[in-house]
Amino acid sequence: MDYQSVLDAIVDEVEPLVGEGKVADYIPALARVPVERFGIALYTVDGEVALAGDALEAFSIQSVSKVFSLTLALKKVGEQLWLRLGREPSGDPFNSLMQLEVEQGKARNPFINAGAICVADQLMSLSDDPKAELLDLVSTLCGESVAFDPEVAESERATGFRNAALANFMKSFGKIDNDVDRVLDVYFNQCSIAMNCVQMARAMAYLANAGVQPVGGREIVTPRQARRINALMLTCGTYDAAGEFAFLIGLPCKSGVGGGIVAVVPGELALCVWSPGLGSTGNSVVGMRALELFVAKTGLSVF
Ligand code: GLU
Repeated sequence: MDYQSVLDAIVDEVEPLVGEGKVADYIPALARVPVERFGIALYTVDGEVALAGDALEAFSIQSVSKVFSLTLALKKVGEQLWLRLGREPSGDPFNSLMQLEVEQGKARNPFINAGAICVADQLMSLSDDPKAELLDLVSTLCGESVAFDPEVAESERATGFRNAALANFMKSFGKIDNDVDRVLDVYFNQCSIAMNCVQMARAMAYLANAGVQPVGGREIVTPRQARRINALMLTCGTYDAAGEFAFLIGLPCKSGVGGGIVAVVPGELALCVWSPGLGSTGNSVVGMRALELFVAKTGLSVF
């Protein structure tokens, strides 16, 4: 398949839409990102790269980082992770406290904030320096070093009252083992990582290749773990729009409020789209449309 032509055609087709949606404005560093941006890149299991639009412009990966932290936790904790964490979609907003009370402080899945904070807690219990380990994993995955953005991390902390509430609420049920502020520090820093679409597509390629990095052949997770991460992305990866994503796109996806969305075509490729204008569910409006077009043009979908 001529992926470059597919991506070029998508850039042309979404052009009239670019600028739609609303940039996340809860912190200054996100609020000042221009809404008129669109990038797309893919990385195949054979190591082929294609990119178009603003694919080389770095963006704040935000909740997409939850895939990386889950990967690291699965590597370190294995199946034990699921004693603390559910695997069901929530149907509620990503930062909701509601179901935590019903579930006695057990988060419903690793891709909502409560679940990602629980994952950060597990990483903290098993590592002297979970932030460094996480950066190391992400850098290994994308083949070049990536960094936290200290301004974003500090703003996340300064405005993260809801995340602090989630962490404290879980702690009150005995579901967080470590100091809440230190756990939140891991979570806020992981959200602040900046990457571009090419780096992100390359970094996620192990999920398209049964857990193995296409170039270099390093096993990141087992084939079973890769399948499971993909399953969770499909059912829980896009806030309370996972049903809509499955319906319109039909691929495991994870989105973030920075406007990035990663999608995995198992056995074929990983794809990253970025456009900062968000719709009502917190997903990139143009990014979603681009993924729909990609599936329509290539016929690649898990269904
Ligand atoms: N830093 C954001 C938060 O925790 C991440 C939001 C997101 O991308 O879903 O509120």
